[in-house]
Amino acid sequence: MNIGVVREIKNNENRVAVVPSGVESLVRAGHTVTVEAGAGLGTSIQDSEYAAAGGTLVPTAEEVWAVADIVVKVKEPQAQEWPLFKPGQTLFTYYHFAASRELSEAMVERGGVCIAYETVEDKRHTLPLLTPMSEIAGKMAVQEAAKYLEKPQGGRGILLGGVPGVPAAHVVILGGGVVGINSAKIAAGMGANVTIMDIDLERLRYLDDVLPANVTTFFSNPLHIREILPTADVVIGAVLIKGEKAPVLVSVADLQRMKPGSVIVDVAVDQGGCIESMHPTTHAVPVFTVDDVIHYGVANIPGAVPASSTYALTNATFPYLLALANKGVKQALRDDAGLALGLSVADGKMFLPTVAQAFDLPQ
Ligand code: NAD
Repeated sequence: MNIGVVREIKNNENRVAVVPSGVESLVRAGHTVTVEAGAGLGTSIQDSEYAAAGGTLVPTAEEVWAVADIVVKVKEPQAQEWPLFKPGQTLFTYYHFAASRELSEAMVERGGVCIAYETVEDKRHTLPLLTPMSEIAGKMAVQEAAKYLEKPQGGRGILLGGVPGVPAAHVVILGGGVVGINSAKIAAGMGANVTIMDIDLERLRYLDDVLPANVTTFFSNPLHIREILPTADVVIGAVLIKGEKAPVLVSVADLQRMKPGSVIVDVAVDQGGCIESMHPTTHAVPVFTVDDVIHYGVANIPGAVPASSTYALTNATFPYLLALANKGVKQALRDDAGLALGLSVADGKMFLPTVAQAFDLPQ
């Protein structure tokens, strides 16, 4: 098979979907790997390293899309990539269909096969291709919040961890999954007072067991969220309902309850966001302010730390890519029911029922 690796073109997206060790394994298994020149530069991987691993370097993305049976990427295809996606070709990447009607319609129209990282499940029904990026985004959410709390950044000027005699900041985390627990670990480690909220009691029990004493668990419901907002210096949105748009947990009116200069980081923005006033932002201009509350809505947070996130992502995606290449797409999907859950679009049909219904697409 011919496996295509292109340079990511989303704003400040520096990750790459396959690293040289992956190219070497694919080539050893008898495949051809076509790599766009410069694909790895954001992660400081030189073209010469891909070539040494057996990759075939070509100057443009068009040349990769033209020859590849499977194109593997990091972020959802951008509008200028849509016309390059051919009928019958497979595109293995993140999509987050529920957040974009345009992307969903375009992928159905192109007639290719879309396998989405974010809905692939493992035997324990967790999301193995979302988890490493959620770990990174959860940790970075706190770093970013600490930065934007600083006065010169427009924040209220409170130190996350406090100092002896001066209280620490209060970090409220909505959603105690992978993003939430990682945010809680970092915020607690920096000395903040942390409240982590979820609707899953079993999960709250687990969080209560494993997190340090400066983390309090709190059952999530609209009343509790309204009650806690006035005390928060930072709110981190970290909810997920698999394959669906994120539920809105903080309304525009709720912002009035928050302290001026407080910071919201909505990590769930890639699934539509759980903060009503949020919209996706980029690493170039990460924040905007509504009602004196700083909003951070970067949809590809791990893109800022490619030297960590490229390797965290490819460690997880590569075994699936190798199976798709070695067995062929159809057989690999038949053999692995968890991978088959990633199959989102094929034959001009949308296989995610909630997305098909929301955007009126054939299913
Ligand atoms: P997860 O499934 O591990 O956790 C989600 C948690 O939300 C679950 O524990 C669930 O019980 C909880 N939840 C659902 N409804 C809730 C509610 N009403 N109140 C409180 N909690 C609720 O998911 P995750 O891996 O932590 O991902 C969270 C979000 O972050 C997803 O939307 C994911 O796509 C996104 N994400 C974004 C980036 C980025 O760069 N912006 C990176 C990685 C992940």
